[in-house]
Amino acid sequence: MKTFLLLFLLLSDCKTAITPTDNTIVYVCESSNGKKYHLNPNCKGLRNCSHRIVKLTLGEAKRRGKTLCHWEK
Ligand SMILES: [Zn+2]
Repeated sequence: MKTFLLLFLLLSDCKTAITPTDNTIVYVCESSNGKKYHLNPNCKGLRNCSHRIVKLTLGEAKRRGKTLCHWEK
């Protein structure tokens, strides 16, 4: 059972390695100068966010002119 859980965690970790599509949920810091989106809600780029963190689809984030955060490239 423990092995199974570990495997599951490893597999879910790998999700970020999959090429995101426009339907992928991304996280955006809702500040006036927030120009980045994040695939990982625990990204250290988001930790500095003193505003609300909003969930968007990748397609929506791109329409708003957001680019991928430099920690996750
Ligand atoms: Zn990030």
